[in-house]
Amino acid sequence: MIPPRRARYGKIERLVDDMLSAEPGISAPVPVERLVRERGIAIRRGPLDDDVSGLLVRQGSSATIGVNDAQSALRQRFTIAHEFGHFLLHEGMVEHVDRGYRVNFRNQESSMARDVEEIEANFFAASLLMPTRLLDEAGAVDAVDDDEKVKDLAKRFQVSRHAMSLRLANVYRRYAPY
Ligand SMILES: [Zn+2]
Repeated sequence: MIPPRRARYGKIERLVDDMLSAEPGISAPVPVERLVRERGIAIRRGPLDDDVSGLLVRQGSSATIGVNDAQSALRQRFTIAHEFGHFLLHEGMVEHVDRGYRVNFRNQESSMARDVEEIEANFFAASLLMPTRLLDEAGAVDAVDDDEKVKDLAKRFQVSRHAMSLRLANVYRRYAPY
C-alpha cells in the first residue's frame, strides 16, 4: 500500500464518526481501550526506551499495541489512540515504533510519507478522544479561549490540556489541522 501523501482529515473524521455511531449512549471519556480490544487488538504495558511512547506490531488481521507505562496515564491513553489510528489507517505498517511524536504539526506540514502517517495518527487520536459531537454536547465551543473551561474539558475527556486546546482550535476555529 502506498502511504498517503496528504493527511486524510475528512476520511479520519468519518471513520471516527462511524465507529462512535455504533456506540449509542457513548459519553466522555471515550472508552478507547475497550474499542481497541473489541477489534482483537491486545494492549501490553511495560517498560520501553525513555523516548518511546508506544508501538504497533501487526499480526495478520490483528495486532498488539505496546505502551510505555512509565509515562502518565493521559499520555498512555493518547498513545493507545495514536497506535489504533496506525492500525486502522496504515495497512502497510507491520512494525512501528513511536519515539516522542510531535503533537503540534501546524507549522510542519511535510510531504514526507512518514510524517503524513504521524499527522494522521495524531489527528485520529484527537478525533477519537475528543469527538466533535461530544464536544458540541459539552458546549465546548465556549471554551476555546477560556483556560478554566479547557481544564474542565480536559479532565472530562481524559486528555492533556494541551491536546484539548489544540483540538478546540481545530474544531471551532477551522485552523489547519495539526
Ligand atoms: Zn506513530
